[in-house]
Amino acid sequence: MNTSAAHGVRERLVVIGGDAAGMSAASQARRMRGPDELEIVAFERGHFTSYSACGIPYWVGGDVEDRDELIARTPEEHRARHIDVRLRTEVTEIDVERGRVRARDLESGAESWTSYDKLVIATGARPVRPDLPGIDAAGVHGVQTLDDGQALLDTLTRTEGRRAVVVGAGYIGVEMAEALINRGYEVTVVNRGREPMATLDPDMGRLVREAMTGLGITMVDDAEVTALPTGADGRVRAVATADAEYPADVVVLGIGVRPETTLARAAGLPLGDHGGLLTDRSMRVRGQENVWAGGDCVEVLDLVSGQLRHIPLGTHANKQGQIIGTNAGGGYATFPGVVGTAVSKVCDLEIARTGLREKDAHRVGLRFETVTIESTSRAGYYPDAAPMTVKMLAELGTGRLLGVQIVGREGAGKRVDIAAVALTAGMTVYQVAALDLGYAPPFSPVWDPVQVAARKAAAKLGAR
Ligand SMILES: Cc1cc2nc3c(=O)[nH]c(=O)nc-3n(C[C@H](O)[C@H](O)[C@H](O)COP(=O)(O)OP(=O)(O)OC[C@H]3O[C@@H](n4cnc5c(N)ncnc54)[C@H](O)[C@@H]3O)c2cc1C
Repeated sequence: MNTSAAHGVRERLVVIGGDAAGMSAASQARRMRGPDELEIVAFERGHFTSYSACGIPYWVGGDVEDRDELIARTPEEHRARHIDVRLRTEVTEIDVERGRVRARDLESGAESWTSYDKLVIATGARPVRPDLPGIDAAGVHGVQTLDDGQALLDTLTRTEGRRAVVVGAGYIGVEMAEALINRGYEVTVVNRGREPMATLDPDMGRLVREAMTGLGITMVDDAEVTALPTGADGRVRAVATADAEYPADVVVLGIGVRPETTLARAAGLPLGDHGGLLTDRSMRVRGQENVWAGGDCVEVLDLVSGQLRHIPLGTHANKQGQIIGTNAGGGYATFPGVVGTAVSKVCDLEIARTGLREKDAHRVGLRFETVTIESTSRAGYYPDAAPMTVKMLAELGTGRLLGVQIVGREGAGKRVDIAAVALTAGMTVYQVAALDLGYAPPFSPVWDPVQVAARKAAAKLGAR
């Protein structure tokens, strides 16, 4: 045990990273213990705390007017709760042996060490930025932080041309394509995969591509970007692949992220196969008594496959942060794991998934049946009933639900939560088909689309 804790004097909790996981941890630790017992210092290298990166596409697209609406809690609000937020201060080293971190003030360049009794690593994720000619040219933007979002908006305001190319067709690429369409751009999406949304099976991804094409978005599939050619003014003018060049006045990169674990790796902390920190269920870094980690920098247990994965989502970061804060504050809480639920949209097409795709199930050696059904968001006769496609995977023999993907119009997205709960509870498709879900014509058909899929899967597996 460290000396300060042993003698009952005030302990110091140091947090690296001032967004979802870090500030949730700091806030919860403060709820657990007052400033007389626990000093909390949070280092953040950016300009903001507790911001919603998830809102960036809607801010860029104009649904959200003001950047500040994306900030849940400002540094001043945290400081009023006795959390010593140090902005524009980057932690450059963790010294686990001596229980201290080294930080650099990014304005003055001054460096100093701060000791800790307890440490939270919440450094998030780093966007993939391939080493391509032109990648750093003016007009090429990532959308990882509010600063990135502001830089992109500045470019959109200044640039007269209306041709935008989005590189990557994961959910961020898809959401940014919508944002740019909403701003009146001609949008091309260049995608390495066969279909957009690789978190879906290709047959469901195809529905997304068809909808995007229907919105006037040019979809370029199976394409590897080779360069971002620039003009004489040094600004990006196109996105080049092996086969073609796509003219661009602005380029948005959405090609995925990796856990930001540079500091953790240098400190000798344990990393998994996906490069994320390894923790136990209380989010304590394996082998460390007083170090916790959460959010995009950690790997999580996938409850369906039983394997560790890197799933960088704000929903996990907030929950894990709260658990860390409880534990660092002297209480006890655990994070059970995830089932891989995610929802997004492109214009009025909602896209949702939870559990395993076909290739995930194959990878872990499961044998399964799949069914795909067409249904509607409301009773078929009710006004505005919208089509919805549900794909379901269920295990042979046991009938256990393994995964669900839903693509459709209004009401499709959040329906996946039925399946998320069922997966978490380890339910079979027989049980899902028998669930007592709410029904009235304005809300669903008498058999909810998820239950229609479950019934069909049950029939395929054999009645029980
Ligand atoms: C465009 C976009 C849309 C998204 N939409 C969704 C969505 O709809 N749903 C969803 O669940 N998730 C979404 N996400 C993901 C979500 O934003 C992240 O999962 C979440 O922000 C992770 O929180 P975090 O605290 O782990 O990391 P981050 O939010 O990345 O915060 C980490 C912080 O640590 C700071 N930091 C890193 N290293 C250091 C250092 N050495 N010293 C000091 N500070 C440091 C960084 O500056 C950063 O502020 C979206 C992300 C993006 C980019």
